[in-house]
Amino acid sequence: MSQQVIAFHYKLTDVQGQTLDQSEANDPLAFMTGSGQIIAGLEKVLVTLQIGDKRRVEVEAADAYGEHSPENIMTIDRSQLPEGEVKVGDTFHGPNGEPVTVTAVAAENVTLDGNHPLAGQKLIFDIEIANTRAATKDEIAHGHAHGADGHHHH
Ligand code: ZN
Repeated sequence: MSQQVIAFHYKLTDVQGQTLDQSEANDPLAFMTGSGQIIAGLEKVLVTLQIGDKRRVEVEAADAYGEHSPENIMTIDRSQLPEGEVKVGDTFHGPNGEPVTVTAVAAENVTLDGNHPLAGQKLIFDIEIANTRAATKDEIAHGHAHGADGHHHH
């Protein structure tokens, strides 16, 4: 199947109903199918919809940002981090370029959590399809969507 670009409006809430993120009114999020731009559990529903369709899509953690894994939490010596003050909530890039968040600071060492901030959470998306179209040659070559109309410069 040829690749599609799907643009959609969304509001993301957690299971408590708290809004975590949402698209701007006139700026739907565009992604190219099969490119890994959005989480798998959402993409597999969006590809079945038509322009104007609205859905509530509930995505379990495993199909969203993964389970919260203790293996992704590490304690390192403070000297391994850049000089200067380190505090809980700071983020760094881990060994593989992934973002890691400081979750505890002690005199000699620092605890880092490499789990995605939304790992372990079931996510609820209220979505509306704004546009669907075939991906352009440029988009396929780049591996990502160039906005809802295909002319976004980046
Ligand atoms: Zn591009």
